[in-house]
Amino acid sequence: MSQLATHLPRAVPVDLRAWLAQAWDPELSLAAWRERLVDAGWATPAWPVAWHGRGLDDELAAVVEDELAAAGAVGAPPGFGRVVAAPTLLDRASDEQKRRHLRPIATGAEKWCELFSEPGSGSDLAGLTTTAEPRDGGWVASGRKAWATGAHLAAWALLLARTDWDVPKHKGLTMFLLPLERDGVTVLPVRLMNGALTHEVLLDAVALAPADVVGAPGEGWSVAQTTLAHERRLAAAHRAPAVAAGAGAGRAVREAAEEFARFSAVYAWIPDSRGRPDLLRERGRGARADAPTRQLIADALIHERVMTITAGRIATAGPQAVSPSLVKLASSRTARRAADAHAALTGADGLLAGERAQPALDVALAMHAASLIGGTDEIQRNIVAERVLGLPRERQADASAPFRDVPTNHTERSHGARAVPDA
Ligand SMILES: Cc1cc2nc3c(=O)[nH]c(=O)nc-3n(C[C@H](O)[C@H](O)[C@H](O)COP(=O)(O)OP(=O)(O)OC[C@H]3O[C@@H](n4cnc5c(N)ncnc54)[C@H](O)[C@@H]3O)c2cc1C
Repeated sequence: MSQLATHLPRAVPVDLRAWLAQAWDPELSLAAWRERLVDAGWATPAWPVAWHGRGLDDELAAVVEDELAAAGAVGAPPGFGRVVAAPTLLDRASDEQKRRHLRPIATGAEKWCELFSEPGSGSDLAGLTTTAEPRDGGWVASGRKAWATGAHLAAWALLLARTDWDVPKHKGLTMFLLPLERDGVTVLPVRLMNGALTHEVLLDAVALAPADVVGAPGEGWSVAQTTLAHERRLAAAHRAPAVAAGAGAGRAVREAAEEFARFSAVYAWIPDSRGRPDLLRERGRGARADAPTRQLIADALIHERVMTITAGRIATAGPQAVSPSLVKLASSRTARRAADAHAALTGADGLLAGERAQPALDVALAMHAASLIGGTDEIQRNIVAERVLGLPRERQADASAPFRDVPTNHTERSHGARAVPDA
């Protein structure tokens, strides 16, 4: 059990243990067990009581995960849907959308992905050009989304698209809930340098209805900020991404292991992207590490500790008190320090691939993701400077003009920027 459990209210572990004693049956199908878990509110205990949860805070929710694991029971499904899409829906979606989507997310029946980034719009997310054009009371979307992690497993996506080219760039965006099975959606694989898989998603005249909109048309930027805040908080999460995959024999455990294997094939790089500071403790022991290397190891472990404490402050004080951007920065800084320490420990052998590959190589290739995913380090620093420290905003020549008039590096746009006159 987590150390936390020793000073947290006893009621949660006691109630849960009693419930597990009569409800956990490893011979159920995974789907049937998860329905039972969701009905009892233990799959997603941090969600509100009205929406399949128990309204627990993050610390108590972690105790629930530990208790499920201790009983050998299968817990909540891993993935973007439960940890990012669902919190976004809880914060911003209509009751109708919550009713439709939250339960299949909690049971793991429907996986989700995020369609924000584009080949020309990553940091400048508000400059995206995938367009949902109004038609017959709905919209028709066309464009190209990059970095769609897990899109091949997902049934649904959070899609950020431009619905109005005649207002400033942040004001013309709308967030949609897109079923990836819909006509006009094509998912294409992209292999990364560390062997990991991501996807591009092409949208060709995809029909969208008013019921697919999260919030109101034109509020997409603010809904996306909610999503990104949930994503950035995750950067420092230490827990295994699949919560309580179950232990021992039984159908539910077997099917959960298969689900976890599919998830791991997509997200196996995440621990490496965080620098694997956990390996440093063991690798640094003994005479192999010289004094400068031990210094690097200590430095990495200190940064890891600071990151954990910063993440803990968010868990207790809330994102209003501590910016998720600070956690994200602490996480990528830890990854870099840990990568340096791994490289020093491994020396030139760290360049070897194949059978003789060392953890240093996986870490060196994956750790760049920590400074990119969910918004780059530079963007986090801009956010902290402007929103936390209240420093003057970065000058943005394109923030107030209608987006149609903003010159970008997209040479062709079906909605066409007006020609910029020759100087
Ligand atoms: C492993 C991985 C998984 C991902 N998964 C997803 C996903 O599932 N869904 C999704 O939508 N996206 C995903 N992303 C994309 C991610 O959000 C983008 O990579 C990120 O926003 C950066 O955009 P970019 O790659 O276009 O870089 P760019 O925006 O082109 O940035 C290039 C460099 O310029 C710097 N820069 C840019 N603008 C500024 C500025 N104003 N001030 C200072 N510096 C600046 C950046 O910090 C960076 O160093 C993923 C990325 C990775 C690496």
